[in-house]
Amino acid sequence: MRTEGMSKEYVARKYDYEPHRLEICVDCLQILANGDLGGAEEDRTTEEVVADMVEVWGDLLGQITLGRTQEEDETEEEYENSTQSEDEGWFSMSSCEGCGSGLGGDRFYATAWLPIDEEITT
Ligand SMILES: [Zn+2]
Repeated sequence: MRTEGMSKEYVARKYDYEPHRLEICVDCLQILANGDLGGAEEDRTTEEVVADMVEVWGDLLGQITLGRTQEEDETEEEYENSTQSEDEGWFSMSSCEGCGSGLGGDRFYATAWLPIDEEITT
């Protein structure tokens, strides 16, 4: 971590949140990207998916962004290449970490930016 030239205050703010990688279903992807299922309501309506996501995340739902962050052992090029193929999604039977759905299906990466305990940032 390079902190030269940065004020102490800036460093603290920069690391207030820590990314946690999630694997989410296509419904959650649609909600996060567009705010609704955009006519692709098959098993659940937009309202039902949002309600499920709120049940899992509560107020932290607003902290979730699409895609994943670069791994420490990954070069910029490796990151770019793998995220391009990851955008297509992949099949998984594990439950969705966005809405908790246990249905198997396509999964995509998302990132939850969760507050770090204050003692870590001070
Ligand atoms: Zn989901």
